[in-house]
Amino acid sequence: MNEQSVTVIGLGPMGRAMVDTYLDHGYDVTVWNRTAARAEALVARGAVLAPTVEEALAANELIVLSLTDYDAVYAVLEPAAASLSGKVVANLSSDTPDRAREAAAWAAGHGAKHLTGGVQVPPPLIGKPGSATYYSGPKDAFDAHEAALKVLTDTDYRGADPGLAALYYQAQMTVFWTSMLGYHQALALGRANGVTAKELLPYATMQMAMMPHFLELYGERVDSGAHPGDVDRLAMGAASADHVLHTHEEAGVDTVLPAAVARIFRAGMDRGFAENSFSRLIEVLEKPAA
Ligand code: NDP
Repeated sequence: MNEQSVTVIGLGPMGRAMVDTYLDHGYDVTVWNRTAARAEALVARGAVLAPTVEEALAANELIVLSLTDYDAVYAVLEPAAASLSGKVVANLSSDTPDRAREAAAWAAGHGAKHLTGGVQVPPPLIGKPGSATYYSGPKDAFDAHEAALKVLTDTDYRGADPGLAALYYQAQMTVFWTSMLGYHQALALGRANGVTAKELLPYATMQMAMMPHFLELYGERVDSGAHPGDVDRLAMGAASADHVLHTHEEAGVDTVLPAAVARIFRAGMDRGFAENSFSRLIEVLEKPAA
């Protein structure tokens, strides 16, 4: 029997990329998906489609879950919970840290170990160098299965608390979605003025390329609690955020995002941070006004 053997439940774009990668590495792969037809191409490559969730669980100790969210996880596993005992569930479905902690306790109640995972890359990068996944949960279960998990992406073990992988993942997604929406907001502004995405691309790219410098500078200020107005004053930032907002108003595009940014700056000004660095806005974010 092949010692390299795994079950993958959930065959969306991510789960399918994972199964393909395991097959490329010579693994025996058992799969299950609510919509069985999504398994066809994988079965043609050698994956085994389990007829029931129970049989998918029975096939292996390591169970990789790639489902939309934890509601889907419970929808799939709850009816088959009696088959979970002795399993290690690497749950690579996205949701909140609290839901991950809850699921870990739920799995433990059924005799299974739950590893929370947060995949940092899109499906085409599964199995490719430079990709990584956050993991947290019982270290012994992680160590026992790290080699199999590393087939998918590099592993970044964050600690025993099952919520940690979800926390790092959601922090990363916070940066991703707000940056990407900021970019789309700039595109809307450009397009309203006859400037194409292609024309803006080098300038947006240049701005993004400068971001690591700002992340380090402001991150250090937040950690130390010192917010000198030596290179930037909040009063300057607040005026700039208003200019951004007014430019979007003039263009007739949606202003929800620039208005929210300007509102946060104003809250900092109202608290008397005008002469401090922008980084002091962390206090507004941490303790919003009632
Ligand atoms: P999808 O939402 O496209 O697919 C998810 C899978 O969940 C499908 O197999 C679907 O089954 C199943 N599913 C959803 N709801 C239920 C339910 N109620 N009962 C049973 N099965 C259900 O997600 P992806 O494959 O794109 O991603 C999987 C996870 O990976 C997500 O949590 C996502 O956030 C995360 N991720 C995704 C990335 C991406 O770029 N795609 C990047 C990084 C992380 P069915 O086929 O029957 O609909």
